[in-house]
Amino acid sequence: MPTSNYFQRLKKIPAGTTVIAGPCSAEDQDQVLVTAHGLLRLDVGLFRAGVWKPRTRPGAFEGRGELALSWLVKARQETGIPVAVEVANAKHVEAALRAQIDVLWIGARTTVNPFAVQEIAEALRGVDIPIMVKNPVNPELMLWLGAIERLQEAGCQDIAAILRGFSCLSTGRWRNEPLWQIAIDLRQHLPGIPLFCDPSHIAGRSDGVAEIAQEALNLDFDGLMIEAHCCPEQAVSDAAQQLRPEELGAILAKLAVRQRTSDPGSACQQRLLELRTEIDSLDAALVTTMARRMAVSRAIGDLKRTNNLTVLQRSRWEQVLSRARAEAERLGLSVRLTEDVFKLLHQESIEIQQQILKNDDAPQSPQQP
Ligand code: PEP
Ligand code: MN
Repeated sequence: MPTSNYFQRLKKIPAGTTVIAGPCSAEDQDQVLVTAHGLLRLDVGLFRAGVWKPRTRPGAFEGRGELALSWLVKARQETGIPVAVEVANAKHVEAALRAQIDVLWIGARTTVNPFAVQEIAEALRGVDIPIMVKNPVNPELMLWLGAIERLQEAGCQDIAAILRGFSCLSTGRWRNEPLWQIAIDLRQHLPGIPLFCDPSHIAGRSDGVAEIAQEALNLDFDGLMIEAHCCPEQAVSDAAQQLRPEELGAILAKLAVRQRTSDPGSACQQRLLELRTEIDSLDAALVTTMARRMAVSRAIGDLKRTNNLTVLQRSRWEQVLSRARAEAERLGLSVRLTEDVFKLLHQESIEIQQQILKNDDAPQSPQQP
């Protein structure tokens, strides 16, 4: 179980999860206050707004800077909701601390840079302030993990992680690919760190937020960070993905927050146990089959070596793959899954056989006289 930290104590929406919301950028005092009041009714646990915006090209809106911090403080005074800003360097940290901002976050473009993260960590040494770390823009678990470790080493106690998706130049449906498995892996490394999902930056469009938010809750995320703006069509950054507070309210009302476990002794728990026993024995059979398949690959490798044959036999590989595809189709199994598994198996066979040939090519040790 994760240890209780600041993020687990934040206010939850009635469905039982934590929602961090607010505009992409603080644009003016009115926009900040009107948006914060609109979110008050939704039981938002933390109000977010960027005041320093990392922009791809110069000349774009770069945030209102330090001045905007006072608008956030005013929003907190009027609504009681704690406030969070993005920091990208030590100067931002110092300004946010002076303004008594409650929570900081590190954005995706900063998490990629260990120098910048280290600078922020140094600025936070000895300071007790909760901090959230978005995933890096590129799909590298270790950079995300490394950023969190730098903060931990500087003594930060209250750290959360945010999955905001990865920039993969994909032609997929979303602005940033969620690559959920990377967040699942992060959680395995750091079970005590609360994990949030930012469906706004994943979807890139307000009409995709509900679907991704629900997927995150199905995957046991601890909460959501969602961009909300009192008037999204006038937003100066990320206009397409921001929701009006009332639109966000409608989405939150429909979210299903799932239970982590069922009651011990219940019929559901009993049936789950039976099914999991079946899965366990199928998994054991899968591993045994893979081991036997690789033993046969090794024998084939020996034959190829003694008969001077290529490791890759293109027509044979096409035959293996098309047979597996046809069998998957016949059984109603995902062809994509089948192809992925077979490609991995084939790659492993190739590596085993390359190794066998390499041993053959290695210079012979000098003959003993
Ligand atoms: C943001 O939260 O507005 C932001 C800039 O996000 P990211 O770092 O995920 O791009
Ligand atoms: Mn944004």
